Amino acid sequence: MPDVNCTVNTCKYWEDGNLCNAQQIVIQNDEEGGFPPNVNLKQLSATPAQSEDETCCQTFKLK
Ligand code: SF4
Repeated sequence: MPDVNCTVNTCKYWEDGNLCNAQQIVIQNDEEGGFPPNVNLKQLSATPAQSEDETCCQTFKLK
């Protein structure tokens, strides 16, 4: 799987450097927008969540 960068650091699949170590992820669209396409993905600020409803990723699992 290619590198997946993620800032939801409360997820059990999250690793240092804003990386995801899940074998498979499910993503839905984000009507709120995101960040510029040339942003440094490894240095994005954390965006913790307490449930999958607070993320765009339906694979989220709370640590
Ligand atoms: S929220 Fe999704 S993309 Fe982020 S670490 Fe968890 S499973 Fe991976």
